[in-house]
Amino acid sequence: MRRTLIHNATIVNEGRSVQGSVVIENGLIAEVLTYGKEPSAPCDEIIEATGCCLLPGVIDDHVHFRDPGLTHKADIFTESRAAAAGGVTSIMDMPNTQPLTTTLDALEQKFDLLNEKCIVNHSCYFGATNDNYTEFNNLDKNRVCGIKLFMGSSTGNMLVDKTNSLLNIFNGTDMLIAAHCESQEIIKKNTDYYKEMFRNATDIPVSKHPFIRSSAACYASSELAVRMASLAGARLHVLHVSTAKELRLFSDESLEDKHITAEACIAHLLFSQQDYKVLGTRIKCNPAIKRQVDRDALRNAVNTGVIDVIATDHAPHLLSEKEGGALKAMSGMPMIQYSLVSMLELAEQGIFSIETIVEKMCHAPAKIYGICKRGYIREGYQADLVLVSHGERWEVNADNILSKCGWSPLEGNTFRWKVDKTFANGHLIYSDGQVDETYRGEELRFNY
Ligand SMILES: [Zn+2]
Repeated sequence: MRRTLIHNATIVNEGRSVQGSVVIENGLIAEVLTYGKEPSAPCDEIIEATGCCLLPGVIDDHVHFRDPGLTHKADIFTESRAAAAGGVTSIMDMPNTQPLTTTLDALEQKFDLLNEKCIVNHSCYFGATNDNYTEFNNLDKNRVCGIKLFMGSSTGNMLVDKTNSLLNIFNGTDMLIAAHCESQEIIKKNTDYYKEMFRNATDIPVSKHPFIRSSAACYASSELAVRMASLAGARLHVLHVSTAKELRLFSDESLEDKHITAEACIAHLLFSQQDYKVLGTRIKCNPAIKRQVDRDALRNAVNTGVIDVIATDHAPHLLSEKEGGALKAMSGMPMIQYSLVSMLELAEQGIFSIETIVEKMCHAPAKIYGICKRGYIREGYQADLVLVSHGERWEVNADNILSKCGWSPLEGNTFRWKVDKTFANGHLIYSDGQVDETYRGEELRFNY
């Protein structure tokens, strides 16, 4: 059996950074060696990693690969290519595609497409509607990562807005419920208010987006979700928390003890309201990017353990679909290719430690979802690994963007951290600018 040695890296794993080497054999991490220790048997290939950091591959629990049905924006193949180049080895795809992943047939179709086209490992959510909760019992819990619940409308219009439906959903499953929380009622009221204010303009300026999709809208909906989940004893994961105020709904106890967990997304950790001036609708997303105090509170909550997971909400649109203002421009942006390096850049600025980044982007998703044998650098685990190095600054630009939409809100940004190599199941899927486009990832499996 072919053995690959990743030699003398700084291994960042489980809260520590230590010098060492890793042996990959048969798709698995066969040996984790402390510095100076030799492999138990000769290796066929040696990758010299002195000066580089070896991390578990990133697990992104929140992506919209737009496949099937919206493939003019993105598709599973193109976006998984971008994921591989970004050090992401596993993704969980959202159900607001066409058809919506809200029936067992559509779910099977999604799995078929993922198996056919996805370069990284994968799973997908089953989307809740106002009346499909009876299907939850028919889902394969070892295969489906969770239930996606839109308590606020976004691309695809999967809004669940009936109290009875919400009760049925929260009481109807012990699977993880991942919720998009924004109160539609408050959003509608705010929209009407700004429509009146800008009645003579062609659209409402995008700078008003965070006042339409306001903090109050987020808090009201998150509070409701947390309250209902607590009463039902449901397993709730609140996606893309975007305000300081919502953070009080979550606890900083250890992940093992939590029934209700929280995710922050890259855009909300990087940008704040003042960035609309330069980036305009490129950073229009739902929930909206809000004040700098919100961004800073989210960053702090990552460090204190109130935020459990950092994900991307990778949600590509064509630039032409981003034209207009708060009403017409579509919400969402591509992010997966630069998620890890942009968080490492924050580590460089002293905002997070590199160990915290690994905790939130690799370990925590594995723990929260109960992913089998991934998310850690441990002997016997799948060899999902990413090798990163720190050197000359490089720039995000059209030459390196792999997402189908061909743009990034980070264009022109420079990073010193760079993804050198990405391994999925021991296979080198990305190396020095090249993705192995022939490889296909595996379906994730979940412990239940
Ligand atoms: Zn999303």
